[in-house]
Amino acid sequence: MGHSFCDPTARTRARGGGWIYKVRTMSITVVGSIAYDTVTTPFGERDRMLGGAAVHFALAASFFEEVRVVGPVGEDFGEPELDVMRHRGVDITDVERIPGGKTFFWRGKYGWDLNSRETLDTQLGVFEGFQPKLSEGSRASEVLFLANIQPDLQRDVRAQLPEARFVALDSMNLWIEAARDSLVKAIALCDCLILNDSELRQLTGKASLLAAAREIFSWQPAAPRVIVAKQGEYGAALITPESFFSLPAFPLETVVDPTGAGDTFAGGFVGYIAAHIEEELTDDLLRQAMAHGTALASFNVEQFGTERVAHLSGPEIVARVRQLREFTQFSASALPLGE
Ligand code: AMP
Repeated sequence: MGHSFCDPTARTRARGGGWIYKVRTMSITVVGSIAYDTVTTPFGERDRMLGGAAVHFALAASFFEEVRVVGPVGEDFGEPELDVMRHRGVDITDVERIPGGKTFFWRGKYGWDLNSRETLDTQLGVFEGFQPKLSEGSRASEVLFLANIQPDLQRDVRAQLPEARFVALDSMNLWIEAARDSLVKAIALCDCLILNDSELRQLTGKASLLAAAREIFSWQPAAPRVIVAKQGEYGAALITPESFFSLPAFPLETVVDPTGAGDTFAGGFVGYIAAHIEEELTDDLLRQAMAHGTALASFNVEQFGTERVAHLSGPEIVARVRQLREFTQFSASALPLGE
């Protein structure tokens, strides 16, 4: 779990001549939807279960560092739902209850192809007009995740953590269509962009993932340095200006509900990076982060909503990362192939 520490590199000269050491908090701040989801899949349905991008992210990332969730809920939001986050040690100081407000609501339906879903209803509720006021603790986090929500809100929160050392952002087709300019500005303020592959194509107008990534890396005056393309049941690809890496999803016989898989992946990926924030962000570290994100996401889809990850243990994650390594390793053939 998280801890405070004194980073000697963060010292600044005091007026009197000595040094002032800024105390940084080893934690992750996340802003995004905190929701009630009504979901139908071929394997059952749930009405108004706990969901939301920030919630799925926070539960997954809580295995690596302390997580602070920023976002509003309505008067209808229950204590049992808050307890799910509390039980994972998630800091909910900045979960603001809006008097008279209604919690963000999403209704979705999946067919046999669990890679595609139909959104039947989205009600922003308390997110409309929400102005985030972050506590000192949330502003002191080293790592920030801007989960899927209105990009103006993502930028507002980004501005409140100007010294964060790693910032990642997720978004979706709705915001690419409805608020593209603001989203592009938000992406430029981040180190890492995490999007579905179809959304990367939609954002850039490029058919190939590599071309889409190259386009984003060329943005001026600022661009992210890491792009993750989520590919549903096919896994995820990681692209930097110098490298490429890809992992399949963890193979499962039983998939019940993919809702939140992307945010759970992001929680594992960003959480792993946060736990190694003192290290250089090498390709090796990014690949390990991909493996942890992939393992976490695979648990998420085994049951509805947050049900599986809320009852997960660290050793289960470690075991799955090991299995994933076995599934994806091979040695290059020494056989010389003819012309
Ligand atoms: P994922 O399956 O990882 O894409 O995320 C699903 C979660 O995103 C659900 O729990 C929803 O509550 C949430 N969600 C759906 N639509 C939106 C939206 N327009 N803005 C923010 N969150 C959303």
